[in-house]
Amino acid sequence: MISNFFILSATAALLILFILNRHLHRARKLSDDALTTWKRQSEQELNQARHDRNRLLDALGDAFFLVDSEANIRFANRASRTLFGARELLDRPVSEAFLDPRLAQALLNCLATGEPTQSLVVLPQQNSPRGDLETRGVNAWIIDAANLPNPSPGEPTTRVIIRDVTAEHQLEQVRKDFVANASHELRTPLAIINGYLENLLDDDMIDEPTMARRFLTIMRKHTDRISHIVEDMLVISRLESGEANMLKVEPFCFHSCINDVLERLESMVRNQKAEIQVAMPDPDLVLHGDRFYWTQVLFNIVENALKQNPRDGLKVIIGCESIGETIHIWVSDDGVGIPSADLPHIFRRFFRVEKHHSQQEIKGTGLGLSIVKRAVEAHGGQIGVTSVPGSETKFLISIPDTRPAGAPI
Ligand code: ADP
Repeated sequence: MISNFFILSATAALLILFILNRHLHRARKLSDDALTTWKRQSEQELNQARHDRNRLLDALGDAFFLVDSEANIRFANRASRTLFGARELLDRPVSEAFLDPRLAQALLNCLATGEPTQSLVVLPQQNSPRGDLETRGVNAWIIDAANLPNPSPGEPTTRVIIRDVTAEHQLEQVRKDFVANASHELRTPLAIINGYLENLLDDDMIDEPTMARRFLTIMRKHTDRISHIVEDMLVISRLESGEANMLKVEPFCFHSCINDVLERLESMVRNQKAEIQVAMPDPDLVLHGDRFYWTQVLFNIVENALKQNPRDGLKVIIGCESIGETIHIWVSDDGVGIPSADLPHIFRRFFRVEKHHSQQEIKGTGLGLSIVKRAVEAHGGQIGVTSVPGSETKFLISIPDTRPAGAPI
């Protein structure tokens, strides 16, 4: 009886054990499946998060990198790939990928000190990340590096932003040059005036009327020059201010503008026995623009031709013709011309061809063509120049023909 009970108990125990084992096995299998699903889900979420992060960082206009503690690039956004062109960036040390060590320096400082670092790097275009061998000038970059808060082991530790500030840098340079040139141009006549004033007052020349008159005449010439420079600078500044209503646009006959200019330059033309030809297939051609500025444009160009060629018998042609949607205006002369090396700089403020510059003591402000270019551009036009010294120097302006539809050609 006891042995029966024992066998029964043992069987029941075995059965329970078996059932328990089955449950345990099933539970383990279930938890393995859940773990695998959870793992897969986490991986998917992580990939999605990475994808979203990359998408956002790719949308940045600036080059953006994530770098690990060994200064290896672990992420580079689209702007950085554009900046560095075809060069391989990922998993490369920054000092290799950035080519110029000055670009990597800010990041290396940040890695070394743990402090956020910003630096401005100005590189000749040949050394810039783009490696443009053709273009002259400089590229300016701000390198901004900072550590990421609490990076996980093996993850990037530092972010780097490279911002292209070339345009701002160039503008700043132009501004500095302008101030330096303007001060220089004004200082010269002021020094001359001061010198004569000293002679008059301190050396008692004022009591010698002939001498005093001569000094005062020279001083007047230089004060005129100062007023001329200041006036030109004001015109440039007005044109550069880009005020929408700065131009008084109205229809006017371009031929009448030419007549005004020739009238103002009449004595110069006569003295130099210059020959001026007007080539306008349609003498009634109407321009829509600010007549004041167009007169100044034409005056500056024609006066330059006469000024630069004081010899007798210069031939100047002033032309204007509407072709298709564009009005072409040109002024050509057969004078000394402009050396080809100077042509790219001719419209810069205060630029004067050295060779011409030394011909006479005072000759223009170097602002005339600057005004011309800005006035033409303010009308939506373009200006260019070609020169074969001694043969033909030609300034050519093209502006959109904005006459209302149906207006007479
Ligand atoms: P400036 O007030 O000295 O005339 P511009 O800006 O008008 O200054 O002209 C810049 C320089 O371009 C001049 O100093 C001159 O050397 C050169 N230049 C302009 N037009 C001519 C021309 N038709 N022939 C030769 N040189 C010219």
